[in-house]
Amino acid sequence: MKYKICITCKEKKSIKHFGILSKSSDGHRSECKECRQDETATDWVVVGLENELKKKTFVTFTSRFGQHKREQRSQLHNGHRNSNIKRDAAEDGIEAFKFKVYKTFPSNTHKSVIKKWVADIKNQLKIEGKELYNK
Ligand SMILES: [Zn+2]
Repeated sequence: MKYKICITCKEKKSIKHFGILSKSSDGHRSECKECRQDETATDWVVVGLENELKKKTFVTFTSRFGQHKREQRSQLHNGHRNSNIKRDAAEDGIEAFKFKVYKTFPSNTHKSVIKKWVADIKNQLKIEGKELYNK
């Protein structure tokens, strides 16, 4: 089977995960279908960036998950805005950080509903004994 690495999620996936693009050198898109779907979706996604070694999470929400992941990954590489994440990325390596989707909401959901849910998931994580990068 043919494999290809997606430019967005950096995961190695079988070629059937990549859409057809006849003008490209291998006949397929450079971004996998899952990531392209993220790109076009406008649903709200409550997402955590979790340091699996330290059991510490940064919780936030976005309507552009694909873009969000790219920005976060770029910040992990180049120095994260959050000084604690920056320190831990240097200490544990950026491979320690994984994205986690907690919940998605339809695009017409009011922000206050999502913010309430974000507050709830933060409390839930604390109960589970996980630390948070953002209070
Ligand atoms: Zn991908």
